[in-house]
Amino acid sequence: MSNVESWIRHGVEMRRPLLVNESLSQAEKVVIVGGGLSGMCCAYRIALKRPDVEIVLLEKSNRLGGVISTWSQGEWICDLAVNATRPHPAFWRLIQDLNLSKEFNPSQSKAKSRWILLGGKKHRLSFSSLFKIGPFRLFKAMKKSRKGGVSVADLLPHKSIADALTLGIVNDTSENVDADFLMPAMTKFGSSPPLKNSILKKRIQESYPLFIPKKGSIASLDRGMQSLTDALQKRLESMENVTIQTGHAVESPESTAQDFDVSLESVIWTAPGFHKESNTTELSIFAVGYRSEDVTDVQHGYGTLIPDDSIPISGILHESDVHHSKRAPKGHRLFRIMVPHKRWSGNEDLILDSIKNLLSNSDPVLFENLGTRSIPSYPPGYMREVSKRSPDCTFVGWGISGVSVTHVVDEAERVAEFF
Ligand SMILES: Cc1cc2nc3c(=O)[nH]c(=O)nc-3n(C[C@H](O)[C@H](O)[C@H](O)COP(=O)(O)OP(=O)(O)OC[C@H]3O[C@@H](n4cnc5c(N)ncnc54)[C@H](O)[C@@H]3O)c2cc1C
Repeated sequence: MSNVESWIRHGVEMRRPLLVNESLSQAEKVVIVGGGLSGMCCAYRIALKRPDVEIVLLEKSNRLGGVISTWSQGEWICDLAVNATRPHPAFWRLIQDLNLSKEFNPSQSKAKSRWILLGGKKHRLSFSSLFKIGPFRLFKAMKKSRKGGVSVADLLPHKSIADALTLGIVNDTSENVDADFLMPAMTKFGSSPPLKNSILKKRIQESYPLFIPKKGSIASLDRGMQSLTDALQKRLESMENVTIQTGHAVESPESTAQDFDVSLESVIWTAPGFHKESNTTELSIFAVGYRSEDVTDVQHGYGTLIPDDSIPISGILHESDVHHSKRAPKGHRLFRIMVPHKRWSGNEDLILDSIKNLLSNSDPVLFENLGTRSIPSYPPGYMREVSKRSPDCTFVGWGISGVSVTHVVDEAERVAEFF
């Protein structure tokens, strides 16, 4: 594939390091550790391209999907992790290949607004918020960031704007997050495209199957994101060259190679553990539902970010406003609430008190603790360090060089291109 074609296929993902051991393509048997979206997509893409290669997918828990799961109760539907995707042709290709196009739809365009709560007041965020930094200051910071290794707080020298961005993506404040990792195009990390940005954008737009997404839009699956991993699982189970083993934890790439009698180069590691020293952000996720008449003061929109760590809630997502499909019974609204453990003692009454202030004085008709999730941390300098590694096996997934589902879905295509 030419460099131009690769950029059209993968876009800005081309800036991210790909930790593939090149001997992987010689393998007759590939063992993939981790049955989250990344492991599943790698198994699918390689198995499809090379029916002669035997694929073993190992997952330590008793289900596939990793952090992705969708909770439902009656007509209430709420995702625990990712609920929608930003546009990327690789994600659209996966939806098309899995025959999910009928249930994959653009989110509600009228629910785009995002707010940030500062000093008890909600402020609307938009692209023009960046102008608050001042063009000269922003340009100077961007230029400095190109030396690499700086934080998002350094790149966007406006604390609340920078925190809003990082909290919304990795649930951490901006001084703790690597700018090259989160915004590689802005810091010009990695290689640059071989054609003008405007031409590249146009050619990427033209490459979308299904519908062409509007600028700044997102899209979701009508029954929640788990319908993607369910469909992937079904497809993998139907492929003759794929074996899935759940309830199978392995210790390391080396022990995997030994246990399955393959070379280390034949192992793809998508589980955590690449950065043994790195911390994670632990959070609890709550679904909160109200009668619509009890939350008339809450404007329709995407959601609100809350950098103030004296409040246990870091983000409120307006689930029933955002998606194309219904997420709540008629006459009701559903909110998803993120509660980082470093802000919270574990007492649910504190969350109930907090939502009284943030959403409504009325009692919710639904208040459900859906579970916990961990988000890897990506400290300043992270991406620079990752790009220096040349590993003995292949490392992919959100624990490596990109946080979003578009990253892991596209990365699996890039890995399969080695075969
Ligand atoms: C709260 C939250 C909100 C999110 N929101 C968004 C969003 O809005 N947009 C977006 O694009 N992305 C979002 N994401 C990120 C997205 O969910 C991830 O990018 C993606 O699901 C990661 O998939 P993965 O396979 O790389 O990792 P995981 O899902 O973590 O999968 C790793 C798998 O490895 C298994 N495993 C671990 N150790 C072992 C072992 N020793 N042996 C065998 N198996 C092992 C685990 O059990 C797990 O199944 C969100 C994530 C969270 C938690």
